[in-house]
Amino acid sequence: MSAKFGYVSEESYPAIAKKFAMNIAKKKFIGNKCTTCDKKYFPPRTACEDFHETMEDYPVNNVGELKAWTIIHFAPENMADRAPYAVGIAELEPGIRVLAQIPSLMQKPKIGMKLELQAQQVDAVRFTYKWVVIKD
Ligand SMILES: [Zn+2]
Repeated sequence: MSAKFGYVSEESYPAIAKKFAMNIAKKKFIGNKCTTCDKKYFPPRTACEDFHETMEDYPVNNVGELKAWTIIHFAPENMADRAPYAVGIAELEPGIRVLAQIPSLMQKPKIGMKLELQAQQVDAVRFTYKWVVIKD
């Protein structure tokens, strides 16, 4: 199976992004962790922001608390047909904050509301994730 992450993708598609997309397709939310300093990342990175290069898989909890949100009215060209849409940043655990769309939002987002990160299939090979409100 081949999988890509997000609504659009670069032509050169690194192995770490392919693996991440495959995991999302299987509803697995796997970031990574620096083996030197323990910093955690989601989505995964090829190297730690402190220039350490040895990373290992780190599965994240997929329930978080909304920390910030906005409504996108003027979207990038490849997302213009979806605007307006809400995006939010929620914290899955200390240090891991994830930005994703909140597509099902019928009411105004509230800081602190509980959100669940869910896999979303965009087309035959593209996968992303979205926030779904589980408790406001
Ligand atoms: Zn590190």
